[in-house]
Amino acid sequence: MASPHEFGIAGLLGWPVAHSRSPVIHNHWLQRYGIPGRYVLFPVPPEKLPAALSGMAALSLRGCNVTTPHKQAVMSFIQHVDPLARRIGAINTIVVEKDGSLTGFNNDGNGFVQSLRDAKPGWRPDAGPIVVVGAGGAARAVVASLADQGAREIRLVNRTPERAGALAGEYGPPVQAYPWAQRAEILAGAALLANATNQGMAGKPALELDLALLPTEAIVGDLIYTPPETPLLAAARARGNLTVNGLGLLLNQARPAFNAWFGTMPEITPELVRAVEATF
Ligand code: NAP
Repeated sequence: MASPHEFGIAGLLGWPVAHSRSPVIHNHWLQRYGIPGRYVLFPVPPEKLPAALSGMAALSLRGCNVTTPHKQAVMSFIQHVDPLARRIGAINTIVVEKDGSLTGFNNDGNGFVQSLRDAKPGWRPDAGPIVVVGAGGAARAVVASLADQGAREIRLVNRTPERAGALAGEYGPPVQAYPWAQRAEILAGAALLANATNQGMAGKPALELDLALLPTEAIVGDLIYTPPETPLLAAARARGNLTVNGLGLLLNQARPAFNAWFGTMPEITPELVRAVEATF
């Protein structure tokens, strides 16, 4: 890493990137810890991805986050991939090493698990059966981190069953795929329900899921943070479940990235949460 006294630049590489809250988070921390630097947005269309990555070291960037549609594609253009990111098959954070090479990480799943612990201190992935809805990139990250951190039973369900089946096939036990039609039944006895689909996002319909069989002690996590309370979380809260939205994931995945780029592990403070919520 460069000297902490040098002005450091990191950013978000995606297409589009304008909606991102990451600049608010990282620029808040840069200011709070008195670190000279800036987090900026890099709108990069897919055809310019290799050129953008190969220019990172030359531009003395500290690194970047990676978002849609580049999370999988960047794996082919960087020199080192962390084992967890390799298992997930996607990268959300790139660090420029001292020698100019690029290392990729994926902090999304660990960020999600940490957000559950922030909401319920001491919560562990082996607390009981887990239901994950979705089998896209975010679901892959969540399943990988839950499995890594000791989950014994992950019931995976996805609208397109082949994707859930493929993911379960990669992991074997504890991940088991279920038909979409059984998504309400498999909530019985669960300790965690995680929505990793885009259903419930602003502008999209709600996730169609009957919560009747879900124990009220279960945590309900939604990876979505716009809106801050999805219809799923509203329904879960109304019946007494502890609910966690995707803001905790966003904040917790950002901490190790900031540390890698700027050399300080930052804290998630109420002031930071307010600053991000003010953008909603
Ligand atoms: P993705 O790879 O495109 O996956 C989308 C998922 O949603 C798939 O499982 C897809 O099922 C499912 N889906 C789409 N339309 C559906 C419908 N009508 N009914 C049921 N399921 C449907 O997206 P992703 O990157 O995994 O992201 C998923 C969600 O996580 C998004 O809402 C994203 O905003 C959120 N996320 C949040 C954070 C954060 O920082 N909080 C980070 C990453 C992602 P099929 O396989 O059947 O298409």
